Amino acid sequence: MLTAISGINWGDEGKGRMVDLLSSDYDIVVRYQGGNNAGHTVINEKGKFILNLLPSGILRDDVVNVMGNGMVVDIKHLVEEMGRLTAAGIKITPANLKISREASICMPYHVLRDCLEETRLSDKKFGSTRRGIAPSYGDKYLKKSIRMGELFDQEALKERVKDIVDWENLTIYNVYNAEPVKVNDIVEYLEKYGEIVKPFVCDVGSYLDEQAKAGKKIMFEAQLGALRDIDFGIYPYTSSSNSIAAYGPIGAGIPNRKLDLSIGIMKAYSTCVGEGPFTVEYLGEKAEELRKAGGEYGAATGRPRRVGPFDAVASKYGIRMQGADEVALTKLDVLSGMEELEVCVAYEKDGVKTTDFPFPQDLDKYKPVYVKVKGWKQDISGARKKEDLPKEALDYIALIEELTGANIKYVSVGPERSQYIIF
Ligand code: GDP
Repeated sequence: MLTAISGINWGDEGKGRMVDLLSSDYDIVVRYQGGNNAGHTVINEKGKFILNLLPSGILRDDVVNVMGNGMVVDIKHLVEEMGRLTAAGIKITPANLKISREASICMPYHVLRDCLEETRLSDKKFGSTRRGIAPSYGDKYLKKSIRMGELFDQEALKERVKDIVDWENLTIYNVYNAEPVKVNDIVEYLEKYGEIVKPFVCDVGSYLDEQAKAGKKIMFEAQLGALRDIDFGIYPYTSSSNSIAAYGPIGAGIPNRKLDLSIGIMKAYSTCVGEGPFTVEYLGEKAEELRKAGGEYGAATGRPRRVGPFDAVASKYGIRMQGADEVALTKLDVLSGMEELEVCVAYEKDGVKTTDFPFPQDLDKYKPVYVKVKGWKQDISGARKKEDLPKEALDYIALIEELTGANIKYVSVGPERSQYIIF
């Protein structure tokens, strides 16, 4: 049984906590794309955890966690993240964490190039998290990546590092006038952190294929959302990887296997980190109220998120791109106490309305079309079944289902493991 959990919107939908909740039924949780550029927040009986690289299943005792070939892994960050979790009493061993030998290493010079480029772009910047993700993926497709499996042959690795660093320096020095990177520093870096991560590196494709054959339940955990997918998102304001569910088996090393279930995580309102078109963006006081209510500040960077009301046009598109069989609607509790709620039901350009998500470069030409619905006053964070919700909240959910075609199966009403309702 292969299940993907992915984001329907711009990311930060609360995927981490849903994976944490649903992973109790699964044997294996896999991260298949991205790096440490986003963060999952999970709150459970063991504490509050921010996970940038490790799959959320790491917080469950009986779950095996896999970091797939589709990832770019900053090994220093990984070592630190593992250290933080270990200190909090989480056990991490080669038995419950397996890293693909084909995963790319996100190197210090990738972080450097990311920063240099954002600085060069100045006010035209993309809002990169400056964690080296785009240069890492760029190098992967230029075939200049160093991959996890290369950590095992020190001599060959040194040769490769020398060739690649010489090539990186052409850009770092000649294009950006920055200080060239030293080969020895990179070799030492790889030795230091490589030694710690090496025991976890293996052929995860064979492992997962065998487990799938044996009928084990495997969950693919995506980072970010459909609108950040490099091919189908709001390019160029996307991530550098495929965050769609269909990429799960590929980025995990089992392209021969197909997904059985796609669960999309959709937020009850909209948030967006960084630059780029965001049709339903609220500004000023309205934005501040929603941002505060939802605690919308980035888990990885602390940046305030841009916020807005629920966007049915973008969400309907996200549901299609994720092939979402089921949807979990998150953070509904955040909307409690608001007199009236707006919902974006269409986009409008030159007086013509559409419910089809436009080509991203045209998004700026569109304005949102809103309907207003009645909000609810009650605190719903204690609701555990449908009947506990006020009529207005049920109407809001029904409206969202009708507008997007979502099959809403879960509604979350708070950040903790137990704060959800099965619909
Ligand atoms: P992810 O990257 O999709 O996992 O999202 P983040 O972890 O960045 O953001 C989700 C944030 O919302 C975290 O702080 C969660 O603890 C919190 N959260 C998740 N679900 C809910 C919910 O239903 N209600 C509230 N109030 N907070 C939630």
